Amino acid sequence: MTGSAFPWCRRTVARLAAGAGTLALLLSGAACGRSAPEAPARGPAPAAPAARITAPTVLLVTIDTLRADRVGCYGRADAGTPALDALAAAGARFDDAQTTAPLTLPAHASIHTGRTLPAHGVRNNGTFAVPPDVPVAADAFQHAGYVTGAFVSSPVLAFRHGLARGFQQYDDDIPRGTRREGLVTHYDERAGIDTVRRALAWLSQQGGRPAFVWVHLWEPHAPYHPPAEFARFADRYQGEVAAADAALGVLVREVAALGRERVLVAVAGDHGEGLGEHGEPTHGVYLYRATMRVPLIVSGPAFGVKPAVIAQPASLADLAPTLLGLAGLPGLRGADGLSLADALTGKGPFPARAGVFAESHLPQIEFGWSGLRALVTPEHKFIDAPRPELFDLRADPDERKDLSAQRADVDRERRALEEAVRRAAAAAPASGADRSASSAELDTLRSLGYAASGRRISARRLVDPQAADAKDRATFLARYDEATGLVERGSAPQAVTLFEALDREDSRNPGLLLAYGQALIMARRLDDAVKVFRRAVAVDPGYSLAWYRLGQLLDNAKDVKGAENAYRRAIDADPLSLEPRKALASFLADQGRLDQAIDTLERAKELDPQDRAINGDLERFYARTRR
Ligand SMILES: [Zn+2]
Repeated sequence: MTGSAFPWCRRTVARLAAGAGTLALLLSGAACGRSAPEAPARGPAPAAPAARITAPTVLLVTIDTLRADRVGCYGRADAGTPALDALAAAGARFDDAQTTAPLTLPAHASIHTGRTLPAHGVRNNGTFAVPPDVPVAADAFQHAGYVTGAFVSSPVLAFRHGLARGFQQYDDDIPRGTRREGLVTHYDERAGIDTVRRALAWLSQQGGRPAFVWVHLWEPHAPYHPPAEFARFADRYQGEVAAADAALGVLVREVAALGRERVLVAVAGDHGEGLGEHGEPTHGVYLYRATMRVPLIVSGPAFGVKPAVIAQPASLADLAPTLLGLAGLPGLRGADGLSLADALTGKGPFPARAGVFAESHLPQIEFGWSGLRALVTPEHKFIDAPRPELFDLRADPDERKDLSAQRADVDRERRALEEAVRRAAAAAPASGADRSASSAELDTLRSLGYAASGRRISARRLVDPQAADAKDRATFLARYDEATGLVERGSAPQAVTLFEALDREDSRNPGLLLAYGQALIMARRLDDAVKVFRRAVAVDPGYSLAWYRLGQLLDNAKDVKGAENAYRRAIDADPLSLEPRKALASFLADQGRLDQAIDTLERAKELDPQDRAINGDLERFYARTRR
């Protein structure tokens, strides 16, 4: 396993790495001059200690890819997490908090909506957005008179994915191209301390008003390159955990220094990290404890939160209802997560429930295999898959010994899981053709990509007994990871050889075909790459990124008709995507079709009003029309 590869996020990674989308850029792997922004201006440093502010301050901090057992207060020696440990000592620490999905965007959608995946509909990174009719916590805080600000560290949570609703300030202005290492490269990211500084600068300008602030830190996500001051950690993942904790520490200290006295702090990992357990290096495919169990700490003496360690399973979907409850505000309509506010303040018992559940759609969407679904109770974990698994969590917390063949309770666990999913789905926003919405509302949904992606995915059954079982593909995944690692290290011909072998084993795997085609581009075998991308879109006609790459190749080969068709198919397949729109606009402008180019970019601008490349191109195209 390589520490730096993270194949499960490949589709989005490559889309984000695409820059302005010229093939020359792909081949050179160089950062793109056209879209590379100047570094964003740092906000001013927080002001000197101000007057006492007694209005409530709610800080929600999500730390990406943070495994619970890598945090000091969860038992890790030398974790380097003093800020998390101090919050846990003063507040409530959930010992068995579970994510709703081992992926960033779906998990954050749960954190903000109080809903599990069947209820909010966001099943994967990239092509999904929180539907506009699903209530979000920020909106509720804003309506209650709070100022609301969000500061994220990865484009996975960009404005267009629907989490910005309710936030008066949504700062996703992340420098591009900071870690570009070839065609398929790493997510752009902002250092946690920079994100924290931006949040503090904003908060310092809000006077004494109640405030709801969400800060997202990305450090523990692969690749693991901790800042120099955390090089003392031999384990680079742990160094990244310590770096995120240090940023959290600055946030908590500086908020106090602003004079804010009534502070409620909630910190959660959005999912964990496999680190090789069960054959998974990163996260996104499996639903085992390494990626499912997350740290969750709620600290707020001024809000009545009592120090406690909570053993019962909790879900990240409980977080928004709990924060609203602690702030004395009503819950969110349709939430299937529970408010634990009474339990945290000693006013009531921990609510009873059948268990908490999670889903993994990535194996189905990316690889064409069956998806997975899991139910966690204090005693058991049941994972529904073509071959289900049942673990006794007390005797076997690492989930090594599947009891499903020996135990009669598999059917009972499955019924409990299905009932939980049914209850969650009942709250789901009715989307698509049968929704009795105005055409304007449906247009909004479509422009946000929800209706299109929701329809495509929901047509399939998540746990499909006829499809491949992801746990039977662990060796395949390891070799896939090896091949993508070779591409990243510049050894494209060797990667192609490995991808050819994998393709013989699993010839209708869209994610594999995409990675294989990209390796062929890097190996300068462009005609072969065209053939492979054509196979990818035949297997999955809704595969936006494969259409986009095909468009780039055909554009390069001067196949004007083919290129335009492929770009348009890419946009239809993923209405949220920006890169195919930018590429189509450049293509149209090259053809002298300036009005259409402008129209295309205006639609892209609706998705990301701040994108400098879009705004720059629009300015140039408008200037040309005035000549
Ligand atoms: Zn994440």
